[in-house]
Amino acid sequence: MAKDLDPKCKKCRRAGERLFLKGERCSTPKCAIVKRNYAPGFHGPRQRVRISDYGKQLKEKQKARYQYNMMEKQFRLTFERAKNKPGDTGEIFIQMLESRFDNTIYRIGFASSRAQARQLINHGHFTINDQRMSIPSYKVKVGDIIKIKNNKKEAKYFKNISEILKNKEVPGWINFDIKELKAKILHAPLMDQVNPSFNIQLIIEYYSK
Ligand code: SF4
Repeated sequence: MAKDLDPKCKKCRRAGERLFLKGERCSTPKCAIVKRNYAPGFHGPRQRVRISDYGKQLKEKQKARYQYNMMEKQFRLTFERAKNKPGDTGEIFIQMLESRFDNTIYRIGFASSRAQARQLINHGHFTINDQRMSIPSYKVKVGDIIKIKNNKKEAKYFKNISEILKNKEVPGWINFDIKELKAKILHAPLMDQVNPSFNIQLIIEYYSK
């Protein structure tokens, strides 16, 4: 499977804002946007180019794609599927991105970034409806119950997870039982619960060319 090997902080610097791709580090002064808030490359510090409409659309698309940690092909395919469904394409697209299993694990707080969530999923740390689930792109459904796999609960990574999660705000489409470390999908993610940091209209325009 193709892998995106581009350094994460470079993506933020290219986007010109924090995309929170590295978990805890992103909220510290070590963040590359704090230290070097200009585009990467030789001309980065002095770059003052007027950005075209196409450039703006491309930038928003890249921002969203980087945030959801997806390759272009997979991201475009998800958009095409959203476009072919009846209803508001932008809303459906965001719902499909948010419903990904890796994003759901990140939203619950079991991982501090989507990249980390994907790694934990690949290593078989979670179950859905008591069945092991190791597919990051799986779309969670209403009623799905997500848990840490029994034999992984004692792993070092999950030792202090209740303590870490006690102040975590979980979006309204997920019900999280901190005592049982169990999450239930209540309904499809709503636009105002997601509050995307990218302009979905510009992404629609980008893919409609
Ligand atoms: Fe982006 Fe996080 Fe790197 Fe900051 S630390 S530039 S937010 S990935």
